[in-house]
Amino acid sequence: MSGSERRSAERARTFRSRAMTAAVTGEAATAPGFPVAFVDGTFVPVAEAALSVHANAVSYGTGTFEGMRATWNEQARELHLLEPLAHYERMHRSANALALPLAYSAEELVAFTVELLRRNEARSDVYVRPILLLAGEVLPVRMHEIATRFSIAVSRFPARYIDPAGVRCLVSSWRRMPDSTIPLRAKIIGSYVGPALAKSEAVLAGFDEALMLTVDGNLSEATTSNVFLRRGDQWVTPAPDQDILEGITRRQVMELIGEELGERVVERSVDRSELYVCEEALLCGTAVQIVPLVEVDRRPVGDGQPGERTLRLMETLAAIARGEGGRQRGWVTPVWASG
Ligand code: PMP
Repeated sequence: MSGSERRSAERARTFRSRAMTAAVTGEAATAPGFPVAFVDGTFVPVAEAALSVHANAVSYGTGTFEGMRATWNEQARELHLLEPLAHYERMHRSANALALPLAYSAEELVAFTVELLRRNEARSDVYVRPILLLAGEVLPVRMHEIATRFSIAVSRFPARYIDPAGVRCLVSSWRRMPDSTIPLRAKIIGSYVGPALAKSEAVLAGFDEALMLTVDGNLSEATTSNVFLRRGDQWVTPAPDQDILEGITRRQVMELIGEELGERVVERSVDRSELYVCEEALLCGTAVQIVPLVEVDRRPVGDGQPGERTLRLMETLAAIARGEGGRQRGWVTPVWASG
C-alpha cells in the first residue's frame, strides 16, 4: 500500500468511527435541538419523542412535515413566528392528500407551537418542525390502517443557512418528480430524496445549490425553495403546474413585488434558457428566506451581482420576520406577548 493509499484508508476509518460514535451517542441528532417536544397532545422531553426503527415511515417516508421559522428581535425581546397558520393550513392540505388524520385544527396547532416555544425558553432564531407520519410498526407498504403520530420539535436556526451575498446554482441532472408520481402540493417526507441527490451533486461540484427541471425540461424550483426571475419590466416564476411546492414565501414574495416594488409577477412555464438571459433572479423559502441568485451553470445572472430589487425584498421580509413590518404585521405571531 502506498503512502497516499494508507492516508486515505486512515481518513476513511476516522470518518467511519466518528459517524458511529455520533450514532451511538445520538449526538448528531440531538445537538442542535431544544429539550421539549410535542407528541400527540403532550409536551415531553425530546428523548421520549424518539421513533421506533420499525415505524413504517422510517423505511418508506410515509408522512408529511412542515418547516417554519421564528425570528428573535433583541430590541423588542420578542420571538416572532412567521405565518404559522399558513404552514399548518398547508399541513392540513398535505394530510388530506395523503388521507391521514390530523387531530388538531390549524389554530390549535399554532397555540401548541407558541406553548412549545415558551416551554423551551426559546429566545433566539429557531426552526419549528411539525411531522405527521405513519408510526405504526407495520411492515407492508401502504397508507391505510397504520397508526399515525404527530410531533413538533424545535431546533436552533443555523447562523448561516445559505450565503445571503448570493448563491451559485447548477441545473441538476436530477429532474423534479412529476405530480403524477407523488402529490407535490403535499410536503411529503419521502419526496425529498431527489432534492437531496440534486443538492449533493451541486455542492460536491462546487456550487451552492441545485435548480431542478421538470421531466419536460422547464424550470421547476430549487431543492427547498422557489425561484423568481426578472425579465424586462416583469417578474416570472414557474406556475403551480410546473411541479413546484407552492411555497408560503413564494406567496409573500409575490405580494411584496406588487406592494413594495410596484411591479408585476407572471406565473407561467419558464424555459431553462431564460435562466441564462434574465436580468435578476432570486430563491425564496422558509430556510433561505430571500437570497439573490447570482450565477447559473457558471454564467452570471445579469451583471453577476445581487439585484437591487432583490436586496430590497430581502430587507423588507427580514424586517417583517422581526415583527417590524408595516402592513404585513399580521404575518407574525409573537410568542412571549401573546396569550
Ligand atoms: N419547494 C420545496 C421543495 C420546499 O421544500 C420548500 C420549503 N418548504 C419550498 C419550495 C419553499 O416553501 P416555503 O416558502 O413554504 O418554505
